[in-house]
Amino acid sequence: MTHDGSEALRRAAAHAQRHLAGMDLRGVAPTVGGAALIERLGRALPERGTDAAAVVDELARAAEGGLMGSGTGRFFAWVIGGAVESSVAADWLVSAWDQNAALAVTSPFAAAVEEVVGGWLLELLDLPRDASFALTTGCQMAHATCLAAARGALLSGEGWDVEEDGLAGAPRLRVLTSAARHGSVDRAVRLLGLGRRALEVVDGDDHGRLDAAALRAALDRGGPAVVVLAAGEINTGACDDFERLVPIAKERGAWVHVDGAFGLIARAGRSCAHLLEGVDGADSWASDAHKWLNVPFDCGLAFVRDRAAHRAAMTGGGAYVASSEEVRDQIDWNTEWSRRARAVPLYAALRELGREGVAAMLDRCCERAAALARGLGEIEGVEVLVEPVMNQFMFRAAGEGDLDRRTHELMERINASGEAYFSGTVWRGVRAIRVSVVNFRTSEEDVARTLAAVREAAS
Ligand SMILES: *Cc1c(COP(=O)(O)O)cnc(C)c1O
Repeated sequence: MTHDGSEALRRAAAHAQRHLAGMDLRGVAPTVGGAALIERLGRALPERGTDAAAVVDELARAAEGGLMGSGTGRFFAWVIGGAVESSVAADWLVSAWDQNAALAVTSPFAAAVEEVVGGWLLELLDLPRDASFALTTGCQMAHATCLAAARGALLSGEGWDVEEDGLAGAPRLRVLTSAARHGSVDRAVRLLGLGRRALEVVDGDDHGRLDAAALRAALDRGGPAVVVLAAGEINTGACDDFERLVPIAKERGAWVHVDGAFGLIARAGRSCAHLLEGVDGADSWASDAHKWLNVPFDCGLAFVRDRAAHRAAMTGGGAYVASSEEVRDQIDWNTEWSRRARAVPLYAALRELGREGVAAMLDRCCERAAALARGLGEIEGVEVLVEPVMNQFMFRAAGEGDLDRRTHELMERINASGEAYFSGTVWRGVRAIRVSVVNFRTSEEDVARTLAAVREAAS
């Protein structure tokens, strides 16, 4: 047995390079299903060990056909994104270093990288520079983190200490939001013990953008409230009118939280940043680096204006506090105790791209989304449902017959071709195919190949 793991690591590097190099040669969709993969992996717990390098080879073989080509430039389903080169390599280092990024004392380096990255992000996204931040597993836990801070601060305003006394007997919190909100908001509300009934839908337009008068009326009914606004609605990329809505909410003492899983990132670009004017007036922001900042999973982002509320909601209890005066303990800002040093790949990506490179990547994605929409609009039997304002939009089958069924079949044919991959959605009661362009790899050639595949599938 080697102690440096060199053979296993060498083989992992070779398999990884082959995987990345073959991205445009393979189909985008997986070709092997879950049951066959379980068979391939062998169901029984192994009695005896296997040589480390052989394990790596086995894994690479077992994965063949079972991986989704979500790293390619022709993958447009959900909102997933790729991973820029240095971030993948940095992620390998994180595993080799195997640091526990809980506290400054368990890994000064992990704590330092995270502190630097947090400052960079506030600057990149132009949020209040003295806001606090946390790197979470995803936007889901970023919501939970931010809304925990909101819960504590709002209830404290009502004379209730939720960290000491819990929620039993507490004043009820209201969560005012759009019917088009992402499901992760609901789950965060449930996890925090606020209950689904805390959610109140405020009227909005077709894109889920809240109506100012409706929001004002809802807030005037009284009671401590969080207003959840969207920076990037999942189907259309639409953003709430922050300049209008944030002051209405703040004047009435509400906490404004922003779901900006992908859309908040557009603030670092040029072409779509105007959609986010006034977003910095909010109280908390949840986003993702693993989507549009193109780092490997998982890396979510939480930012909170009221640092004290954030820390009070998350603090690890103080047993380790003041382990370092020089750098913060991550445990005081996250839901996790032990955790991966996920700041390291993000540091690498931001170094590799720089502010200029990030902006160029974001603008490129928006441009490619517009080019796809233009091209799709010219295809017979296809209709663009909503033109992109950012990086997301929808199309669907056009013409005669059962259009919902035809839309579904069109998507299945495109996905089966292996040339491109889309996911479906329902918008205003009709089936649609959603397009999300968040991958740094998506090139003009990818757009052309995708349009050819749609043309073929539609004919
Ligand atoms: C993806 C997404 C989420 C959830 O983010 P995760 O990183 O998957 O937890 C929340 N809101 C929106 C708008 C999203 O697109």
